[in-house]
Amino acid sequence: MNETLIFMGPPGAGKGTQATKICENRQLKQLSTGDMLRDHVRRGTDLGVQAKQIMDAGKLVSDDVIIGMVRAELQQMADIRVLFDGFPRTTAQAQALDQLLQELHAPLYAVVLLEVDEEAVVQRLLKRAEIEGRSDDNEATIRKRLSVYNEQTSPLIGYYAGTGKIKKIDGMGTVQEVEQRIKEALA
Ligand code: AMP
Repeated sequence: MNETLIFMGPPGAGKGTQATKICENRQLKQLSTGDMLRDHVRRGTDLGVQAKQIMDAGKLVSDDVIIGMVRAELQQMADIRVLFDGFPRTTAQAQALDQLLQELHAPLYAVVLLEVDEEAVVQRLLKRAEIEGRSDDNEATIRKRLSVYNEQTSPLIGYYAGTGKIKKIDGMGTVQEVEQRIKEALA
């Protein structure tokens, strides 16, 4: 049966980590637009070359590019069982996703919103920079990504509020604690 989940939250909220756990639990495919873009960067595709500059500046890649990437991915799936990690990030992306899910007869099950303290997030991302060495995990870019989240992505909370599908989760605590909260909210 088709099922889709959206994971939202500021950069460094722990979306990726929690998304992986929930995907195992509910047998969903994790679709991270950030990972897809990083894959293009690694492979040196035209898209990757363009996207790298934007990502390193902490800005958003264009809606058309992102929507095209997601559409191509969904259209090749037999069953749509997907957890969107870091998508949608703008109202235009959310509208395109609505349309796509309607076309594919894939209902939206829930939007998980991880709520965290901003300063804690900055510290978490600086730590990740040491471990993973992501080129967009330096303090200036982190602060830019947070402001982009607040300006362009957080309005989606209002966009989805009317659907009654938003699950607000306290994202502070251990990985296990947060995982438990999400599982309870989705049960
Ligand atoms: P993430 O791994 O989700 O934090 O994404 C890393 C970077 O990739 C972001 O800062 C953006 O530059 C770009 N990116 C990822 N997903 C999207 C999206 N849905 N829309 C626009 N840009 C994105």
